[in-house]
Amino acid sequence: MYFQPTSVEEVREVLALARQQNKRVKVVGGGHSPSDIACTDGFMIHMGKMNRVLKVDTEKKQVTVEAGILLADLHPQLDKHGLALSNLGAVSDVTAGGVIGSGTHNTGIKHGILATQVLDNLDSHLKKSEYFRFLWFPHSENVSVIYQDHTNKPPSSSANWFWDYAIGFYLLEFLLWISTFLPGLVGWINRFFFWLLFNGKKENCNLSHKIFTYECRFKQHVQDWAIPREKTKEALLELKAMLEANPKVVAHYPVEVRFTRGDDILLSPCFQRDSCYMNIIMYRPYGKDVPRLDYWLAYETIMKKVGGRPHWAKAHNCTRKDFEKMYPAFQRFCAIREKLDPTGMFLNAYLEKVFY
Ligand SMILES: Cc1cc2nc3c(=O)[nH]c(=O)nc-3n(C[C@H](O)[C@H](O)[C@H](O)COP(=O)(O)OP(=O)(O)OC[C@H]3O[C@@H](n4cnc5c(N)ncnc54)[C@H](O)[C@@H]3O)c2cc1C
Repeated sequence: MYFQPTSVEEVREVLALARQQNKRVKVVGGGHSPSDIACTDGFMIHMGKMNRVLKVDTEKKQVTVEAGILLADLHPQLDKHGLALSNLGAVSDVTAGGVIGSGTHNTGIKHGILATQVLDNLDSHLKKSEYFRFLWFPHSENVSVIYQDHTNKPPSSSANWFWDYAIGFYLLEFLLWISTFLPGLVGWINRFFFWLLFNGKKENCNLSHKIFTYECRFKQHVQDWAIPREKTKEALLELKAMLEANPKVVAHYPVEVRFTRGDDILLSPCFQRDSCYMNIIMYRPYGKDVPRLDYWLAYETIMKKVGGRPHWAKAHNCTRKDFEKMYPAFQRFCAIREKLDPTGMFLNAYLEKVFY
């Protein structure tokens, strides 16, 4: 049997029928695969009538389509908006679903297979920009992507009265203080400041020490764990799901996600693995402590689960038992430390928690 559904509902009906008749089902796109990957003697579902362009965001260069669209039909639609796919296979009589599903590729050592163009494109961001980072605004779908790279261009002033005269900071601190009485406001504050700070594409060219640093005007609590780089998505989605499942847990913006190269330093959080640092923050408006225990514990649980190691200089609740599991060379380091400081002269309360 051959079907050409026009909606998700019709796809469901075909699947229900297949289940009833105990048939297997195979989806087909352009039917262009030289292998028999798209073949079946059961039900064949051709996706060619689910081929709409659903959304075009020229700012983000992001397009949402139904998977049955032929690339040949997609190209002129992209072209109308000044967009194009950044790489293609050798033919266009193939569908979005087909090329994504079968690992279609072309060439260019900086370009991945076509599936790497789909949305959460961490590797290509990391390759594109030397100092790539991104910020997630909790309680929202908003992410701000930040590329930082070397340039020979002269510094350009980025005068912005709202931030230069600290009006934005005063406003944020005041709103955060109000939200200590009305925690439900935090999601709104996060979205509002995303809009204020990162509305559209912004460019800034300045001396490196001005680009990498910022004026930290707030009292705040932070945690910042290094996790294996490949766990970034899993950990972030789990953090997001935790916040969605627990609406009473409040998270200030941003969750800042940064990346570092692995090294061979025995107690480096990046020991022997490229890492992602996921920094969470809770401000203390006018010095007032905001409840953070639930957020902190949930975050730590997720970080531990994905093999994280806490930043030595930021908040954590770990003790020697934890570090022994986290650091393969922990015992080796302890032996060296004990040899160099046999009387424990260089310990303090923090280090006792780490080493005893
Ligand atoms: C002349 C020619 C040149 C080619 N050049 C290249 C090339 O340069 N580089 C390269 O990598 N490949 C190349 N290919 C291979 C081609 O890109 C892949 O076979 C691609 O999958 C074809 O897309 P399709 O839409 O025809 O998929 P189909 O052959 O219809 O299906 C392929 C797979 O995708 C699944 N699928 C299709 N649509 C959907 C959907 N909507 N939802 C879920 N799953 C779906 C199918 O079930 C099947 O498993 C070429 C093929 C030809 C014939």
